[in-house]
Amino acid sequence: MDTVIADAVRSYSQRSMTPHLLDILRQLSHDDFHSGEAVARRLRISRASVHNAVHEAEALGLRVQAVRGRGYRLANPVTWLDAESFSPFLRARGFQVELAASLDSTNAHLLAQAQSGGAHKTLVAAEWQGRGRGRRGRAWLAGLGGGLMFSLLWRFNRPASELSGLSLVVGLGLAQGLRELGLRGAAVKWPNDILVDGGKLAGVLIELAGDVLGPSAAVIGIGVNVLGVASLRAEIEQPITDISEHLDGVDRNRLLREIVPRLDEHLTRFDSEGFAPFRLDWEAMHAHQDQFVQVVTGLGERIAGQAVGVDNSGALLLACEQGLRRFHSGEVSLRGGV
Ligand code: ATP
Repeated sequence: MDTVIADAVRSYSQRSMTPHLLDILRQLSHDDFHSGEAVARRLRISRASVHNAVHEAEALGLRVQAVRGRGYRLANPVTWLDAESFSPFLRARGFQVELAASLDSTNAHLLAQAQSGGAHKTLVAAEWQGRGRGRRGRAWLAGLGGGLMFSLLWRFNRPASELSGLSLVVGLGLAQGLRELGLRGAAVKWPNDILVDGGKLAGVLIELAGDVLGPSAAVIGIGVNVLGVASLRAEIEQPITDISEHLDGVDRNRLLREIVPRLDEHLTRFDSEGFAPFRLDWEAMHAHQDQFVQVVTGLGERIAGQAVGVDNSGALLLACEQGLRRFHSGEVSLRGGV
């Protein structure tokens, strides 16, 4: 009998991962079935451990097919993160790289490092986040093996009060990297998301560490949906998509190698020149440019208008009945389709 073990919808957030789960899952593949017995023999563990691992993986959102007499097969072509595949490449560009199997949140982990002197250009990626974060206490969800989640510590010469365009610059770099990989429809949503055909494909979360005056440090968290978002849809109240719905065979290691050098260039330029030199490129990739949208304030007030672009600090420019209004990213959300 061919069973897809993981069809039920469940909550992925706030779960931790057993330390050796990945060692077991690395023995499985999408191409062939592997018997539980052979995996157990290879790793010198019990068959029950393999069975339990498959069930744990399924609870974390990884779809596994089980066929009696043949064994297990990954339902999607997951490529596990492999430090060998990206660390030397990024180290050569001045990054310090850490790959964790499981963290609560890559941003929380790196913020703690930032506060205790962590180095500029430290990058932390994790295969699993138990409590992935979005803006204002919201959650970022990802099934095991389905997302690319990483955070980058960047120390700026400019003060935190001059970092308002940062999430836009990061979003721009991300969208450009995705287009380079062939995702032609990648567009930026103000202030911090990437959309493809109206579905959210990636998000950016910036958290600041240190002083408001003087040099500042930011932890830049990025989550990209690579495959398997179908099983997340019931838990997320907005349209979402992943790379595999638009392109075949994108591996998360390659994605990291594509995105990070571009972010490196953009962040370096942003530190010396601010957002102004990125403004036109950003508007050219703006998902809602010249469209009628609503801006929702922290108090729930909705302000309708035409999104005519952004200013040199990255503030959204909305042409409303009362005239041109400017919104900074901290307290408001943009909603399209008005
Ligand atoms: P804003 O426009 O204010 O940024 P947002 O809803 O995009 O609003 P974020 O804080 O950027 O909020 O991101 C968190 C939100 O993203 C969650 O509340 C959820 O709706 C959505 N979300 C969570 N996980 C994913 C995911 N893997 N892919 C797409 N969207 C997700």
